[in-house]
Amino acid sequence: MADTQDFDIVVLGAGSGGYATAMRAGQLGLSVALIEGDKVGGTCLHRGCIPTKALLHAAEVADEMREGPAIGVRGAFEGIDMSALNSYKNSVIERMYKGLTGLIDSRGVTTVHGWGRLVSKNTVDVDGKLYRGKHVVLASGSFSKTIGLDITGRVITSDQALNMDRVPGSVIILGGGVIGVEFASVWRSYGADVTIVEGLPHLVPNEDETVSKMLERAFRKRGIKFNTKTMFDHVVQHDDSVTVYTKNGKEFTADYLMVAIGRGPATANLGYEEAGITMDRGFVLTNDRLQTNVPGIYAVGDIVPGLQLAHRGFLQGIFVAEDIAGLSPKPINENYIPRVTFCNPEIASVGLNQAKAEELYGKDNVEAVEFNLAGNGKSQMLGTQGFVKLVREKNGPIVGFHAIGARMGEQVGEGELMVAWEAEPADFDGLIHAHPTQNESIGEAILALAGKPLHTHN
Ligand SMILES: Cc1cc2nc3c(=O)[nH]c(=O)nc-3n(C[C@H](O)[C@H](O)[C@H](O)COP(=O)(O)OP(=O)(O)OC[C@H]3O[C@@H](n4cnc5c(N)ncnc54)[C@H](O)[C@@H]3O)c2cc1C
Repeated sequence: MADTQDFDIVVLGAGSGGYATAMRAGQLGLSVALIEGDKVGGTCLHRGCIPTKALLHAAEVADEMREGPAIGVRGAFEGIDMSALNSYKNSVIERMYKGLTGLIDSRGVTTVHGWGRLVSKNTVDVDGKLYRGKHVVLASGSFSKTIGLDITGRVITSDQALNMDRVPGSVIILGGGVIGVEFASVWRSYGADVTIVEGLPHLVPNEDETVSKMLERAFRKRGIKFNTKTMFDHVVQHDDSVTVYTKNGKEFTADYLMVAIGRGPATANLGYEEAGITMDRGFVLTNDRLQTNVPGIYAVGDIVPGLQLAHRGFLQGIFVAEDIAGLSPKPINENYIPRVTFCNPEIASVGLNQAKAEELYGKDNVEAVEFNLAGNGKSQMLGTQGFVKLVREKNGPIVGFHAIGARMGEQVGEGELMVAWEAEPADFDGLIHAHPTQNESIGEAILALAGKPLHTHN
């Protein structure tokens, strides 16, 4: 007879979605088993958000060293010490990992180390031990899709790219989405020759088209090559290089090919189907309370169709814990989830892009303004180009916030507030943005939308 332990909630997977569920549930006094086969913190902490942003910070420093002499700061960029850079990156991860495990313990959560499998509607088996929950929350996360390519040698995904021991001389990146353009930006700043291959007409194709076009201009200026409307066909590995062949007859050779074509749900062979859970191409389907069709089983994070972002997982985890605790939280509006792409220049957005707003409200019922960062003092000091764009339902609320420019990711919070509060320009009367900050560019865009632009021509 197998050993069985009972909990209010059993969480399978301790990434952003799973650990947020566990921590909030612990805070609410529920007993929780948090099952993790690898490391608590999941993709985001160990293979995603945190390591990439450490590499991007180093990229920003490298760019600033290059720019120094032009603004009177002497010095020179002499190259990247990958071993020191990896130590810095790993030390950030390690500190956060320690902090996180301490926090989870302090909430009274029982962390179970091992790979679990759902063996009935309320029980997860880990190495023969059974963890039974009044509720089960599935949070098994995602993996890099590879379209059948062998990830060996010189064909890599973000997992390998995060742990390279030298800066490659040249890289081909398959996919011009968020992960693809972030790595393109990093490697270019480190001195590599970068070529992106993207099947769709634009880089970051989910963003407002004006943002994609601005990024393309900026990348061109930085010497990042990209080929849009170009479908990958196959790759051949040689001893010291790879050659990528595309369906339109082009061929590119570089030291490495990084495959960044999106992430698939990690749900295979975990017993989900056997428990009767409705799935779609590996994703777990839920209602707006994140309940699956099987009573008592919830799902959060990247396995639920939608934006695959860590903070969406956090929000869903908090929601599920509160729902189970009987607090009846308001369903999450996915349209209000902020998105940041941390390449140089950075991209920040919330809500609808202009094309989607026009689809929803009709072309004549949408108004959009752009405030060019040329009119923003702080952005000029940083030497960046870009803009803030606001999309509004005519005579109605702001439904989309879009920004591009160095460090503009930090501005996304106000974008989220204005979209989620369905703000109209008049709601900002009497509010002002501190000078000289990049934040002012949002205020200027609002003034323009209200028909009273200050630092921009009518
Ligand atoms: C390169 C990269 C950069 C990214 N950058 C950002 C960013 O800047 N901002 C952002 O918001 N998002 C970013 N993301 C996305 C973010 O990492 C994910 O959205 C987030 O980690 C999803 O959380 P999750 O809890 O659904 O899954 P995961 O974080 O993938 O966690 C799932 C966990 O479950 C565990 N697990 C799976 N199956 C089992 C099992 N059977 N038994 C026990 N444990 C199991 C896994 O080991 C894993 O730890 C990035 C992703 C990548 C790859």
